[in-house]
Amino acid sequence: MTIEQFSLLWQCFAQRVRQNQEHLDDLDRAIGDGDHGTNLTRGLGKVEILGNEPPDPHLNLQTLSKKVGMTLLSTVGGASGALWGSGLMKAALVFPMSSECDDRTLVLWMDTFVGNIEERGKAHVGDKTMVDVMRPAVNWLQAAPQDRPLRARLRELRELAQHYAQGTKDLQARRGRASYLGARSIGHVDPGAFSSALWWDCLDSVLGG
Ligand SMILES: [Mg+2]
Repeated sequence: MTIEQFSLLWQCFAQRVRQNQEHLDDLDRAIGDGDHGTNLTRGLGKVEILGNEPPDPHLNLQTLSKKVGMTLLSTVGGASGALWGSGLMKAALVFPMSSECDDRTLVLWMDTFVGNIEERGKAHVGDKTMVDVMRPAVNWLQAAPQDRPLRARLRELRELAQHYAQGTKDLQARRGRASYLGARSIGHVDPGAFSSALWWDCLDSVLGG
């Protein structure tokens, strides 16, 4: 992945979240406080502006991952800002201080990113959170035959991520605000899982083919 592709990934994510803002708010209204789409759109809008700044010679994959993380941490409200933001900042250390990394490093970055989200959110697969998309997606990527190019694996993962997100509908929430609803949280897709699937969609748009 190049630094340009990493930057495009977040611009794509900002667009996709904005297009789905109302739907994400609706999903959050059903089991939370109705602001997931609005919050993420606001924070990612700030990340989008980073892409318009004049090229910075000191910027590399590591510093950009930190910068995007800090921006999301300080602008996205609710749990999502802390999860996306701190995940990106910690995972940044996996990236080289250069403008490009190989596929192995990229997958390790993803694993670290998701590991931090799990740790910070104290969430496991099955808790009806973004982890229900992020963890199986990274695990699938790591288990998929490595002789297949990453871009081919990402194409397949795009569909799988949607499937993982829809799977949260049948789960009872055990973390976050939705958990207060108990069994009444069943029957609604988790908004964080839905937005996470959009991220995998963008990863395929930028790197896949
Ligand atoms: Mg909310």
